[in-house]
Amino acid sequence: MSAARIVCQFSCGAASAVATKLALAQYTGKHKVEIINAFIKQEHEDNRRFLGDCERWFERPITQLRNDKYDGDIVKVFRLRQFIKGPRGAICTVELKRKLLDRWKQPSDVIVFGFTAEEEDRWEDWMQANPGRIALAPLVTAGLTKEDCKAMVLRAGIRLPVMYELGYDNANCKGCVKGGEGYWRAIRHDFPGEFESICLVQDELGPGSWFLRYRSGPKKDQRFPLRDLPDGPIVRNEGLPSCSFFCEMAEQDYAA
Ligand code: SF4
Repeated sequence: MSAARIVCQFSCGAASAVATKLALAQYTGKHKVEIINAFIKQEHEDNRRFLGDCERWFERPITQLRNDKYDGDIVKVFRLRQFIKGPRGAICTVELKRKLLDRWKQPSDVIVFGFTAEEEDRWEDWMQANPGRIALAPLVTAGLTKEDCKAMVLRAGIRLPVMYELGYDNANCKGCVKGGEGYWRAIRHDFPGEFESICLVQDELGPGSWFLRYRSGPKKDQRFPLRDLPDGPIVRNEGLPSCSFFCEMAEQDYAA
């Protein structure tokens, strides 16, 4: 493992920030440690401020990758690929994160996952699905939860991303297509322009692009368009996982 690069994916969230900080503390001077981030247009503008603050905390630059074909824009991906998401995941992460990583990674890279202590089962699933591959989950190893990571970032004097301050679980896009009904009501309330942009894509692409389902009543389990989202509880923190290169990779591995 001595020649391997240690690759930390920084997703503009507290967990990936602390996982990166721990990996730097453990491996700087022993391995080449790389920190990478994918630019996504629909993330909150404040994510870039958080990234800059973390570069100062790490005392290292973060390599920012951007998909030029789609300008890092999820709506362009949906329009050009004529698809939003299916059982194997969302096309935005595949095009804007996974394919970027595939071009950049080396076979001997050791990946640093930002799984938190609550996500130990996801980490164990990944290890079982990938025998022989070397990866690290420093937050699981140290028993650090999401709340621990937020507290550590604050103690470092860094303001958390605005999406956290608004009550969301992570700093994903302002309207993540992996979210459920309560989450999308929150997006409709907080970011009506972003909500409408996904409605317009669904207007164009039709029923194959609908990702929400009725939970009860005569249409139970049928999909419906975002535009028809009924009023109801607003839930900003419904447990949506953060969106990273490596979570996408892990999900693809489970589905393979
Ligand atoms: S945060 Fe959600 S919408 Fe944004 S790229 Fe990731 S999966 Fe797609």
